[in-house]
Amino acid sequence: MRKYSLAVIALAMCLSLFMYPKTYALVREGVLDAGVAVWMSLSSRDGARAAAARDGRTRVVFMFDDGWESVYRTAYPLLKRYGCRGSVGMICGMARQEGYMRYAQLAVLYMDGWDILNHSYSHAPNMYERSEELLRDFQRARDWLEHKGFSEGMDMAIVPYGECNPYLIRLLMINGYHSVRTSDNILLFSGDDADYYHVKTIHMETDLSVEAVKEQLAEGRREERDILLNLHKLAEGADPANMTYSPQKLEELLAYLKENEAVFEVVTYTELLER
Ligand SMILES: [Zn+2]
Repeated sequence: MRKYSLAVIALAMCLSLFMYPKTYALVREGVLDAGVAVWMSLSSRDGARAAAARDGRTRVVFMFDDGWESVYRTAYPLLKRYGCRGSVGMICGMARQEGYMRYAQLAVLYMDGWDILNHSYSHAPNMYERSEELLRDFQRARDWLEHKGFSEGMDMAIVPYGECNPYLIRLLMINGYHSVRTSDNILLFSGDDADYYHVKTIHMETDLSVEAVKEQLAEGRREERDILLNLHKLAEGADPANMTYSPQKLEELLAYLKENEAVFEVVTYTELLER
């Protein structure tokens, strides 16, 4: 009789999992995440980096902010075709939200040598005056990245909305961060010092033509600055938020960089900062 009751309870629990889709989804995600973690621990990362000998070439970083799913579906295969790797500024709290990359997709990129960087946990707006809170959000993202096995870029902070309060810079520095990227520049920390790594940031807005990008690349080269191409989503067509770039234009640009590889070298963000 007792055995029978236990079986009924177990059956009821299983059924309740399926009756509550949210619970079922959580259990399924948990099992999938555990599988990804095991796969990452058993594989070796394709991060064999060439020694960073500066050979006079201008370095170009493809930086995809926020962690949109079109980066995995569209940008990743395109860059791979041209032998290039990109970098993702991930909003870690979005990894289970519709339209964003999931843990498994981020893991594929990372194991293929892409950077997964700390773009905060929640990307909350209006945080300029709330540095302590923003630091906690970066810390939460850093814990998430470490826990998920993305330790390489977890202490490279990318400020949401790009504006950085000097007090936040100090907080990041004393909490052991390696660097912080604002909308147009990068600050590298070393001990008590912060030094600019001057890059030319090109904001790849929807209507920016390939010709205009080429002009800015040439300008960066003349100014002896490395270049950061800042992208978000990939898709054809208009976007009122100006955050979507055309895959066709991206491919034209990759072909151009390939043709001009004697002067331009595509690297990841961690390679640019030579870690
Ligand atoms: Zn962002």
